[in-house]
Amino acid sequence: MANRITIVGAGLVGSLWAVLLRKRGLDVTIFEKRTDPRLSHAEAGRSINLVITSRGVNALDKAGLLQKALELAVPVHGRMIHPKAGDLVYQPYGKESERNLSISRSALNQFLIDEAERGGAKIHFQHSLEDIDFKNKTMTFTGGVGNSEKHSYEVLFGTDGAGSAVRKQMARQNLTNETTEWLPADYKELFLPAPNALDKKALHIWPRGSHMMMALANVDGSFTMTLYLPKSRRPVSFENTKSPKDVENLFKNEFPDAIAWMPHYIEDFEKNPQGALGTVRCTSWVHGGSVALMGDAAHAIVPFFGQGMNSGFEDCTNLLAILDRTSGRWPQALAEYEQIQRPNANAIAEMAIENWYEMSEKVADPQFQLRKKIEGLLEKNFPALFKSRYGMVTYTLIPYHLVQQAGRLQDQVLAELMNGVHSPDEVSLEKAESVLKKTYEPFLKQHGL
Ligand code: FAD
Repeated sequence: MANRITIVGAGLVGSLWAVLLRKRGLDVTIFEKRTDPRLSHAEAGRSINLVITSRGVNALDKAGLLQKALELAVPVHGRMIHPKAGDLVYQPYGKESERNLSISRSALNQFLIDEAERGGAKIHFQHSLEDIDFKNKTMTFTGGVGNSEKHSYEVLFGTDGAGSAVRKQMARQNLTNETTEWLPADYKELFLPAPNALDKKALHIWPRGSHMMMALANVDGSFTMTLYLPKSRRPVSFENTKSPKDVENLFKNEFPDAIAWMPHYIEDFEKNPQGALGTVRCTSWVHGGSVALMGDAAHAIVPFFGQGMNSGFEDCTNLLAILDRTSGRWPQALAEYEQIQRPNANAIAEMAIENWYEMSEKVADPQFQLRKKIEGLLEKNFPALFKSRYGMVTYTLIPYHLVQQAGRLQDQVLAELMNGVHSPDEVSLEKAESVLKKTYEPFLKQHGL
């Protein structure tokens, strides 16, 4: 087994992967384009908050880092919907014990870099990968002062994010084909300081049809807000929100209850960058038994299921399990990794795009709210038979491709139970059980779920 591992990209996935490989005693070197983020302030306006869910929790646990990571996170138990008019609506995620963890991306990244280094990984910051000679297994980097350096590799992982240079080198040399499907909406980070009236234990959503805003709590009680707007072609869009007056009008019309707590939203809007959202797909993740893409480099997705990092962390835990099964033989392990993870990546990519429409358009819709209540009823009364698609993605390790199939059957079950029904009390539990047994149970049995 090759023991010398090279990782390009010390983001979330690369630094966690380094921790896990160091625990196996492998020699790990990371090359990272940025300067050491622990020495500079988090990039202003880009300190996204992420939710960590079951797959991320599992990976942190396997790395022995869960307890420490929990200290950086805020538990989130449900969604709080802020309609344009009327009362707030709270939708619990599931059972009381089921919760997500809100965490600052930059804080988590710095923590993981620290742990990778503490575990013995060597990290070279300000090394931007520019070229790979796959035949001779050499890489070229440019450094902070523009010098060019060559390094060799035995086994190379590209964990360099959605714009991956490793993937681009593979594509340039016809080893993969890459595509990016852009969402017609972009995003911007804003800030809501503490103290404020928002419930810290909820993910706050202001759904407005073609656009929306979300807020996740920080440990100090402040909130990081993410505004999603169409790029153009809509009355409410980034294209039509240019001047401070436009920004003020947008917020006064769309999010009046939030701005009461956001003293600097106009400055934040002007100062913070407008980020794009895309789904990256490529035909091969692996080359020659010694190169593999992981995380966003292989499968960047839109953030509406909160699974980008979680799925990247699952790449790590699944590849580690495969490595054990294949007795440390990297060529077999990498081939199997791609075979297993690709259907999962495709499924979560599709479900994440669907969730954009669910969160921006449907969460405020009474029919959708009724469906969520009936799902809750089924989960409570038939725990062995029914777990919502959201719950399966977020609170289990069931492979995403099976969750997607389960979700399609759940649509059929819910459509049948909601027919002519206006409130969850009108759903007959007897009928619900018989529909679940007929339509859904065979699938669960077939896949041992
Ligand atoms: P990255 O975190 O992008 O890290 C890549 C690293 O590679 C960076 O450090 C970069 O500097 C480095 N690099 C790039 N190019 C080079 C080069 N040429 N040479 C050397 N190094 C290089 N995911 C969730 O699970 N839950 C959420 O709630 C969630 N919310 C999100 C909200 C928003 C608004 C967005 C945009 C994303 C969200 N995500 C979420 C997705 C998550 O941020 C990504 O999936 C995750 O950061 C991917 O980790 P990564 O390590 O693969 O890539």
